[in-house]
Amino acid sequence: MKIEAVDVAHYHVPLPVPLSDSTHGIITHFDLVVVHIRDTDGADGFGYTYTVGAGGDAIRSLCENDLKPTLIGADADAIEAIWQKNWWHLHYVGRGGAVSFAMAAIDVALWDLKAKRAKLPLYRFLGGDDPAVSAYVGGVDLQFPTDKLIAQASEAIAGGIRAIKMKVGRARLAEDIERVAAMRAHIGPDITLMADANMIWRMDEAIRAARALATYDLFWIEEPTIPEDVAGHTRIVRDGGLPVATGENFHSIHEFARFIEAEAVSFPEPDAATLGGVTPWLKVAHLAEANNLPVTTHGIHDLHVHLLAAVPNSSYLEIHGFSLNRFLEEPLRIEEGKAHAPDRPGHGILLDFRRLTEHRAG
Ligand SMILES: [Mg+2]
Repeated sequence: MKIEAVDVAHYHVPLPVPLSDSTHGIITHFDLVVVHIRDTDGADGFGYTYTVGAGGDAIRSLCENDLKPTLIGADADAIEAIWQKNWWHLHYVGRGGAVSFAMAAIDVALWDLKAKRAKLPLYRFLGGDDPAVSAYVGGVDLQFPTDKLIAQASEAIAGGIRAIKMKVGRARLAEDIERVAAMRAHIGPDITLMADANMIWRMDEAIRAARALATYDLFWIEEPTIPEDVAGHTRIVRDGGLPVATGENFHSIHEFARFIEAEAVSFPEPDAATLGGVTPWLKVAHLAEANNLPVTTHGIHDLHVHLLAAVPNSSYLEIHGFSLNRFLEEPLRIEEGKAHAPDRPGHGILLDFRRLTEHRAG
């Protein structure tokens, strides 16, 4: 089927509660770019990407002005071919960055459309069988006082979660240690705990922090330093005493290949929304599998639940703080530590666009 129509929308979505991490400070909004694609049969799908509150208009423009013209009239089933065409169309200004976000929104829409045409939920269309995926709640909570941090964990556990991630990277390492110790004491030994530094440390600081935090049985330390420092990550993995998760700031499969080759990552963490979509996400998952590594996710849990359910090496699904639940007719079901991919055709995300309208930015 040929692509007949492409509609692009940009929303600036306020968060119900301001969030914070060591890189972005206080976060009040996230940007959401949504692409609807319709084929000549009248079938449609939608994809989306998001940012930490900036850059959304550039992504909308890339979709509308650069990628939409390449899509009209193309075969909607030829997803890999479209992906390659778009990658090379914008290669000179791309190879990652905002281009990968724009390509993601389109690629996700095409997979949604194709799975809907096959009348299969995306995880089954991709070859998966079991819709249940282990999930953790990723707190964006660096500035929360300890009592609020603990209360948030209690709420997540009451809601069926069995794994929690908290932010680290406060001004003094002693504060991080105190907060992680308080969290571990509160949740006990049976709840999985991760910590996320959002790239705040230099390599030497990261090793010191990882060694200190290892006492509290962390499942991983996430983004201990900048994504440009591959060799630094190798040393952190080797000398820090904790598994390392990273990847939300990687925007191409090649960055994952370099990290895996250098033994610089224990939990590759691709985000389909920042990597170029489902197409490259699956390649990273398979690359991890071939290297006997798990794969985890970052952000857009409503989509990623399908992808983790479709691969054999899935680790945890992150339930991310940028929730769309206020705009969903049916939020993701979570029970006994597992999120369940919906059995509706396509990604099955029932986004109520009328409720989003008041946040439209372009
Ligand atoms: Mg993170």
